[in-house]
Amino acid sequence: MHSPTAQAALSETSLKNYIGGRYVNSAGNEQFNALNPATGEIICNVQQASEADLEAALASAQAGFQLWRKMTGAERGRILRRAADLLRERNDELATLEVLNTGKPIQEAIAVDIYSGADCLEFFGGVAASIHGHHYQFGANFAYTRREPLGVCAGIGAWNYPIQIACWKSAPALACGNAMIFKPAEMSPLTAAKLAEIYTEAGLPAGVFNVVQGDASVGQWLTRSAGIAKVSLTGELSTGKKVLAAAAETLKHVTLELGGKSPIIVFEDADLDSAVSGAILGNFYTQGEICSNGTRVFVQKSVLEEFLGRMASHAKRIRIGNPLDPQTQMGALISPEHGQKVMEFIERGKSEGARLICGGQRAMVQGCEAGWFIEPTVFADCRDDMTIVKEEIFGPVMSVLSFEEEAEVISRSNDTIYGLSAGVFTRDLARGHRVAAALEAGTCWINTYNVTPVELPFGGYKQSGMGRENSLAAIEHYTQIKTVYVETDKVQSPY
Ligand code: NDP
Repeated sequence: MHSPTAQAALSETSLKNYIGGRYVNSAGNEQFNALNPATGEIICNVQQASEADLEAALASAQAGFQLWRKMTGAERGRILRRAADLLRERNDELATLEVLNTGKPIQEAIAVDIYSGADCLEFFGGVAASIHGHHYQFGANFAYTRREPLGVCAGIGAWNYPIQIACWKSAPALACGNAMIFKPAEMSPLTAAKLAEIYTEAGLPAGVFNVVQGDASVGQWLTRSAGIAKVSLTGELSTGKKVLAAAAETLKHVTLELGGKSPIIVFEDADLDSAVSGAILGNFYTQGEICSNGTRVFVQKSVLEEFLGRMASHAKRIRIGNPLDPQTQMGALISPEHGQKVMEFIERGKSEGARLICGGQRAMVQGCEAGWFIEPTVFADCRDDMTIVKEEIFGPVMSVLSFEEEAEVISRSNDTIYGLSAGVFTRDLARGHRVAAALEAGTCWINTYNVTPVELPFGGYKQSGMGRENSLAAIEHYTQIKTVYVETDKVQSPY
């Protein structure tokens, strides 16, 4: 077990909003509990941001912005890179908190979640000094563009990757000179607050990064507030539509990272072991609670039974257990409500005629009886019109479908409102590129799945989102361009 003291340290006090570079007692008196999904135990209570707290966060962010925007990119970058180092130094502690609050296995959080956040801070820390406009000549006259920050940005996070999402949103925002008010999901409030502490320790001026806690009403306040220039949401499609509609009132800039129902296509010439591993990774990592998961696995008919056999034996070996146990490979779903919803999808799959290859049951874990652990579940004989094939489940449920022709599988893969990602497994690389080009998805992987280095843009086609996170593309979404035209001669009146 890692850092058992982390829980003790947190349970002593209630978690407050982080405003103006410090924890601040709420002006209201609403509270909620942060829970451990594996045990149902209360980790700590959390102060919900009241309207007065939100006004204070906005005032503090506006003041922070005025200071921060005047600093050079190099100065901003140094602070971000220092924060990246601090994240890495505190990996064990932060990973433990993430596990306590999300139910994901410690081996994942230790290896990926915090480091991915740190990579993002380091990348945008490096980019900060190179954000610039252009120069234009018009004879003796000239013009230039300035790439300027937007102002105070709101980040609203989902519960599956709490610290990573907070980093993915704040790092580009801050690198470009914006201030941010971040609202984590109500179910995963802990680590965004830790990120705020780390930013302060790294030298970020007070007010540049604030964390406000609470439910959807806090998110609604942020999306409506006229003082906020941009909102970046990671969440469900239905939430994305509400945020976009609310943001329209004040014409905010909007980035949306939403759900998906992504395809993985396995051609008969693929390395089948790689394809099985890719589909396992793209369905069962983080208990299947990943937006980009390839939950529709299309396998060419000639290799279907071989694929299913290997998949079942691999999936059955996945170790479900206490998320804090380093041996555990699959942990608890985020809440009993979500667990029940996933089980309902499984029942629906059975009743609509899908063939259960493995899993399909809730698993009991000693010492974690209140947790919702669900076995890695694989359905075969799936049809495109089944509920489990059409709707995002956000749990460990894979639907396997068979196909015969390349054109057919491309058309069926694209037959969804979503377009977050896709995977293609084949040894024929010409076909791999051809299929990737034809798929309607923001990211296509060839012979792998769910690899998301910060250097690469990440985001969705169609109803999976708007805008891109990570990479230089994110700079576009956190800056606006000002054109400055300079006349070098006397202006002649036309009249
Ligand atoms: P939700 O959409 O329920 O919530 C996301 C965030 O939005 C939460 O902080 C939530 O607050 C807040 N919120 C809810 N309603 C509103 C509103 N009307 N206005 C403003 N904010 C609001 O998503 P989940 O947390 O359940 O996360 C799972 C979803 O996120 C899945 O659909 C998944 O695919 C998607 N996702 C997408 C990713 C991507 O990069 N494309 C990555 C990860 C997840 P509260 O928690 O208090 O309800």
